[in-house]
Amino acid sequence: MKFAYSMPTRVVAGEGCLVENAAALKEMGKKALIVTGRHSARANGSLDDALKALALNGQGYVLFDKVMSNPTVQCAFEGAAAMREGKCDFVLAIGGGSPMDAGKAMALLAARDEAVDPAAIFSTAYTAAYPVVAVPTTAGTGSEVTQYSILTNDAAETKTSIANPLIFPRLAYLDPRYMSGLSQTVTVNTAIDALSHAVEGMLSVRASAISDGMARQSIEMLAGCFGPMREGTLSVQNRADLLCASTLAGMVIANTGTTAVHAMGYSLTYYKNIDHGRANGLLLPEFLAFTAKHAAGRVQNILACMGLADVADFAALLGGLLGKRETLTPEELAHYAEKASKAGNIGNCLVRPEKDDLLAVLKAALG
Ligand code: NAP
Ligand code: FE
Repeated sequence: MKFAYSMPTRVVAGEGCLVENAAALKEMGKKALIVTGRHSARANGSLDDALKALALNGQGYVLFDKVMSNPTVQCAFEGAAAMREGKCDFVLAIGGGSPMDAGKAMALLAARDEAVDPAAIFSTAYTAAYPVVAVPTTAGTGSEVTQYSILTNDAAETKTSIANPLIFPRLAYLDPRYMSGLSQTVTVNTAIDALSHAVEGMLSVRASAISDGMARQSIEMLAGCFGPMREGTLSVQNRADLLCASTLAGMVIANTGTTAVHAMGYSLTYYKNIDHGRANGLLLPEFLAFTAKHAAGRVQNILACMGLADVADFAALLGGLLGKRETLTPEELAHYAEKASKAGNIGNCLVRPEKDDLLAVLKAALG
């Protein structure tokens, strides 16, 4: 038995938790940089709640509401400049993974005395960050409890992670009411991202009894929601379960990292604009099939959490949620296999795939 586990984020959950627990926010600083996307935080009540909580505490704020999906390096620099200009001393990131990840990068960039060269954003040795508070409004990425900020890396034509314990959110507020108006597509794609985190965590060389416990619980809760999700009949309790499962899966990957599924998925997002969670879901069954050839027991454990007998049942379940799949050319598939084979998270795989294995998975999924 040899493993490390840590989770520094304080999690507060429940309907109305942000305003009810405004006092916890007071400890974070005097003036927030609120980081959101363009629309949804206004519509789902999360921004209003944040403004109420800040007002209760007498805290000021600057609003940066320009984060796009798959945030760019430039967006992170723009937010950091707004943070410095507004003399903000903490980040309050509200939204899906995109605003949360962008907010984390802003907290790092703004805290640095020396300017960072945009070309070196992923390689700079950061030594400080402003505190980050996260309010997820999708149930999928788990970014509210991870040390990862994933940005579009145009120089390398992929998505790249800044992984730094300094950007673990200090505090996360989980309120499932914010997700009640999420579209079917975003609900499905984000839930599958969470599933992918929990499953990949169980297929990581860094898995432990602690991360496995959380991953199993997460997979069971997600599996309980797939029926109503497909039918479009998610209850309030289902929404709460999805959010909790997503945060649990975030706690898993904070400790295990992701694996080949995310490594391959980044090319689907970068080159084909396929949503992050959908990209993972398209690849997950074939990666499970590959892993099952060498670690059958481990894969059976994962399937058992969903009450499934074999990988074919799992493929049918995800196929029912994802609908018609994309088809890619042999050249595209070879290119993505080549790129994924060089990604850092390949090293996390319990059964390490070679480039040909990755190509076989990609072909079976999307050829
Ligand atoms: P997202 O890009 O944050 O949001 C997708 C869409 O959903 C946006 O149009 C957004 O609108 C909308 N939206 C968000 N919350 C909503 C709500 N409550 N109601 C209605 N619409 C809502 O998508 P995501 O899947 O959550 O995040 C994906 C990103 O997270 C990717 O960049 C991925 O690489 C990253 N990620 C990070 C980690 C990590 O550990 N850090 C892990 C996995 C994935 P607005 O733009 O108007 O807000
Ligand atoms: Fe993910």
